[in-house]
Amino acid sequence: MSNARKPGGAGAYRRGYLRSVSWFRRRDAWFAEQIARTGQLRCMVCWQLATRRELELHHLDYTHVTHTTHGWVAGETHEQLCAMHPGCHELVHRVLDADPVLRRHRTRRIATMHAICAARTRIGAMRGTRQ
Ligand SMILES: [Zn+2]
Ligand SMILES: [Zn+2]
Repeated sequence: MSNARKPGGAGAYRRGYLRSVSWFRRRDAWFAEQIARTGQLRCMVCWQLATRRELELHHLDYTHVTHTTHGWVAGETHEQLCAMHPGCHELVHRVLDADPVLRRHRTRRIATMHAICAARTRIGAMRGTRQ
């Protein structure tokens, strides 16, 4: 299934959701759940330990997010979200945006996994030049 061909523009749709109270509550619940499960928080990209305030959540899948007459319904499962530093998150989106094959021909989850690998390589390369 394609991420790029949703009617009405997936980008605008998601921006509305990401400003909603439903999303803020879902996000808080995700962090609470993650701490309950693993006792800690890590960035999915650089794998460093981080605090709740240092992390953003990335969607691996938006299919359970719906908009009804009562507003947004945050139906994401725990596994459909993952935590990232804002900088690492940005890098993942840059990789996703720059690669039309990732955007169009894979699921968002698979595309994100490839983008995370590419982002890790770039972070590693940046660290390498600083040493
Ligand atoms: Zn990170
Ligand atoms: Zn994201």
